Amino acid sequence: MEKTRIIIIDDHQLFREGVKRILDFETNFEVVAEGDDGSQAVGLVEAHQPDVVIMDINMPTLNGVEATGQLIDQYPDTKVIILSIHDDENYVTHALKTGARGYLLKEMDSEQLVEAVKVVADGGSYLHPKVTHNLVKEYRRLATSNAGTIKKEVEVRRPLHLLTRRECEVLQLLADGKSNRNIGEILFISEKTVKNHVSNILTKMNVNDRTQAVVVSIKNGWVEVR
Ligand SMILES: [Mg+2]
Repeated sequence: MEKTRIIIIDDHQLFREGVKRILDFETNFEVVAEGDDGSQAVGLVEAHQPDVVIMDINMPTLNGVEATGQLIDQYPDTKVIILSIHDDENYVTHALKTGARGYLLKEMDSEQLVEAVKVVADGGSYLHPKVTHNLVKEYRRLATSNAGTIKKEVEVRRPLHLLTRRECEVLQLLADGKSNRNIGEILFISEKTVKNHVSNILTKMNVNDRTQAVVVSIKNGWVEVR
């Protein structure tokens, strides 16, 4: 099996080293290069042809969002995961518009980092659970401001024909922005069981990743926006 080639660009060496250590621990990952400024992004991608680029936002010369824009202009297939301390939707929307496939918060745990790289390398998109939650809240705000039609729009119609009761609960908690660990704690089940539920949900809903599952569920009113 071919390894997923990763480049890390972040101006803080210690943070970079931490990320690298976590990723190198995975047998299928290989960190092929590192950079400390967005201005190096294009050159590094040219030289190393990575599958995934992990990109900090705040960097001294060229910030990560601009660097992502430059990268996507020249290498449209580059899969960028933004790594940020900001969880407000302005940053997130901007980053996603620029072409980033993932958005992680620096408060993430190592499991979320690894999952994000796997999902994005696989062609999906990954948002940190807290980011997902903020987007959901923003969606609700927009929907509410649209002439009070919210009630009808987000009226909950659970896909009971499709999902088990437990899977519906897990889906709702995904939309709430909970991580697998949180969901396990709330439902008193192991993290592994949560993972199984999530993978069954994705299969049944015919979507690639949890972000898509949440988006589709909101559109269909399968989850409460709370
Ligand atoms: Mg920085």
